[in-house]
Amino acid sequence: MNTAELRQHFLDFFASKGHEIIASSSLVPGNDPTLLFTNAGMVQFKDVFLGMDKRAYNRATTSQRCVRAGGKHNDLENVGYTARHHTFFEMLGNFSFGDYFKEDAIKYAWEFLTETLKLPKGKLWVTVYAEDDEAYNIWSQKMGVPTDRITRIGDNKGARYASDNFWQMGDTGPCGPCTEIFYDHGEHIWGGPPGTPEEDGDRYIEIWNLVFMQYERTKDGTMNLLPKPSVDTGMGIERLAAVMQGVHSNYEIDLFQTLLSKGAALAKDADLNNPSLKVIADHIRSCAFLIVDGVLPSNEGRGYVLRRIIRRAIRHGYKLGMEAPFFHKLVQPLVDEMGKAYPELAKAQPQVELALEKEERRFAETLEHGMKVLEEAIAGMSGDTIDGDTVFKLYDTYGFPVDLTGDIARERNLKLDETGFETAMNAQRERARAAGKFGADYGDKLDVTDETGFHGYGTLAETARVTALFRQ
Ligand code: ATP
Ligand code: MG
Ligand code: MG
Ligand code: MG
Repeated sequence: MNTAELRQHFLDFFASKGHEIIASSSLVPGNDPTLLFTNAGMVQFKDVFLGMDKRAYNRATTSQRCVRAGGKHNDLENVGYTARHHTFFEMLGNFSFGDYFKEDAIKYAWEFLTETLKLPKGKLWVTVYAEDDEAYNIWSQKMGVPTDRITRIGDNKGARYASDNFWQMGDTGPCGPCTEIFYDHGEHIWGGPPGTPEEDGDRYIEIWNLVFMQYERTKDGTMNLLPKPSVDTGMGIERLAAVMQGVHSNYEIDLFQTLLSKGAALAKDADLNNPSLKVIADHIRSCAFLIVDGVLPSNEGRGYVLRRIIRRAIRHGYKLGMEAPFFHKLVQPLVDEMGKAYPELAKAQPQVELALEKEERRFAETLEHGMKVLEEAIAGMSGDTIDGDTVFKLYDTYGFPVDLTGDIARERNLKLDETGFETAMNAQRERARAAGKFGADYGDKLDVTDETGFHGYGTLAETARVTALFRQ
């Protein structure tokens, strides 16, 4: 089953359960200026959950384009290293606005996976929030999932696991306990079931998160009950496609094959498993769709995140030996793959190509030179840390975003001297201030990763508070 068919099956299934099919919203959230990018299906419905907006329907289903490459929820560093993370992905979701709650949400998900898609039940594992006996009982008693495949997450496992099954939009906003469904890709792949220390491996891959929206967290940390308990679910279509197509990595699914082979042809490198090729295939999707949604490469905010992703892709191209601008040439195969589901992409194709090519030409002027500076610095190093002055020089003179230098460092098992970089940056800021150039606030460029918080998971203290609240 190809990705396009899967998307349609999902939407049709939920339409048959009384859900209104709603189009994906923009990657630039229209209703939330504090949010960097749309990174979950619920973003366009945030105000509906809060009871501040009313729709003509109380059940909806979407396939939402998402980007997780900045803000608290940042998967940029994972791309190319895990089988399951992208900067851009599509999230399939079903939503209940004060209509059905836990039991139907779980029932629908189970029916879709095991009856419509006919996934073997024995391959599926579930997690529930530690305190959520109701969800636990629905899974074990009503769906008949054996209890050894249901894990309660949140009890005394430390911050990392404790907060994982309590989903929150960010420091404020709708939130609630969740239950997640994992697929076991088989023992030939390293990794352990959810809740174990080996869970970060890629054997058990999380495919679907069902969130039971019950609270609104306000600025001072109080949790108020929402007007009506609601449901928000999200399932990455690429992960589900991998399962359905019997492959392990998302990069092996139909949609990525075209992008990878086109990239390989451009690089004259036939190895489709090359991690740089995967990074490029991933990045063309986020970059193209961000431009479609009106973001252009720049030195601040969203535009700087886009610039960072483009330059990262170009550097990986350079690593593969690409000589001429190549990145924009991947827009055509992307349109071939996704233009039908996203007509706005097909329509904006010329603008997207132009913006990418322009950025490629601009960075080409400094990339090679910068790489030489970096190679020399590395050759002259005694330890395993690239000094802050070099990182700053690359950033300031050669247009290397810090995370790009970090990406190169990671490939070679090296670290960056971040403190040294900060010092060099502050010195530059001082000089600029002394010279009266108030416009050049370098801090703007760096702060971008902290720009917004979106459903980052809480600290241990927060989790304790949430747990206490949930017990009430
Ligand atoms: P993970 O633990 O694997 O990073 P997550 O818990 O951060 O995933 P959620 O916030 O629960 O993900 O998002 C809902 C679903 O969206 C996930 O179950 C997964 O299928 C998909 N998803 C999340 N992040 C990514 C990503 N970076 N690339 C592709 N799919 C993703
Ligand atoms: Mg994640
Ligand atoms: Mg997770
Ligand atoms: Mg999750």
